[in-house]
Amino acid sequence: MIAVLEPGCPMRHKAEVVRLLESEGLHVQVSELERETLVGVVGPADEALARRVRELPGVREVRMTAPPYPLVSRAWHPEPSRIRVNGTIIGGPELVVAAGPCAVEDEAQILAAARAVAAAGARLLRGGAFKPRSSPYSFQGLGEEGLRLLAAARAETGLAVVTEVLAPEDVELVARYADLLQVGARNMQNFRLLSAVGSQPRPVLLKRGMMATVEELLLAAEYVVAAGNPRVILCERGIRTFETATRGTLDVSAVPVLRELTHLPVIVDPSHAAGRRELVPALSRAAVAAGADGLIVEVHPDPERAVSDGRQSLTPAAFSTMMEELRRLAPALGRTLAGPSGDGGASPPA
Ligand code: PEP
Ligand code: MN
Repeated sequence: MIAVLEPGCPMRHKAEVVRLLESEGLHVQVSELERETLVGVVGPADEALARRVRELPGVREVRMTAPPYPLVSRAWHPEPSRIRVNGTIIGGPELVVAAGPCAVEDEAQILAAARAVAAAGARLLRGGAFKPRSSPYSFQGLGEEGLRLLAAARAETGLAVVTEVLAPEDVELVARYADLLQVGARNMQNFRLLSAVGSQPRPVLLKRGMMATVEELLLAAEYVVAAGNPRVILCERGIRTFETATRGTLDVSAVPVLRELTHLPVIVDPSHAAGRRELVPALSRAAVAAGADGLIVEVHPDPERAVSDGRQSLTPAAFSTMMEELRRLAPALGRTLAGPSGDGGASPPA
């Protein structure tokens, strides 16, 4: 249920609406918009209560249609959310790119990757220290040592760090090192993990499960926000379809669909969708053209020797070329992309 209050309605009227709803044990969210104030109710509300709210002074209308994910829905919060990760804002005019290897392998590798992606205009460094691998015999990540190496790369380059957390018991440890906590596709419906990342202050990058619908992704995001953390960024990373020419199928339409349904920022991972580095630049351009707020891209200083996902990892040179192309494309879409020096998100003169 959403109560729409008259524009300029006095504070005491708003307070009265909130008081009535809270006295019924309901959790409410108030959104102050330019032309109206919305008071949304989390959870079920019945017609009798709606009638009482409708009679209060200042209430213009009460809508009973509420999305199943009220806190992340655009119906409740029409203004897009901007989420700050260190000094970088995701969800504003700047396209924000996170880049780096699939996994942190050693000091030389992560430092080389960090320097290269910073020089090409990335704002965040990606790299897994805890890796979700299909096989128990594959490299599982360096664990805390990997987190330390990421922090050292941040100290040298100024990049913010995004890295995956696999289990609720690791959230505190990963949050000590990371600026943005990644919940991976395989964990999108790990509800205990969603609540755990929702109960700590770092922003969260929530990747869409490879067999999850857009609604399931939004419900997963709702878990994080309902647990107390409103700073969630969504990521489309390819879904499983009948197609075998690519590792996943990048669901480009999820980007405008999410834009319509939620106020949360949306970024795209072209690397896991494609599975092959040759396809990454085209998928990145498609994502940006569809309205994505940024990208997360795998880049490895020596992809042939990567311990994981080398086939889909760009070389530093290919990444730099792709960023130059995106920098030319951005202004046509009303966006900017940080320059090679990591400047303030301005596009170079044409
Ligand atoms: C990753 O980012 O390396 C990763 C494992 O991604 P996903 O969860 O999307 O498969
Ligand atoms: Mn990977």
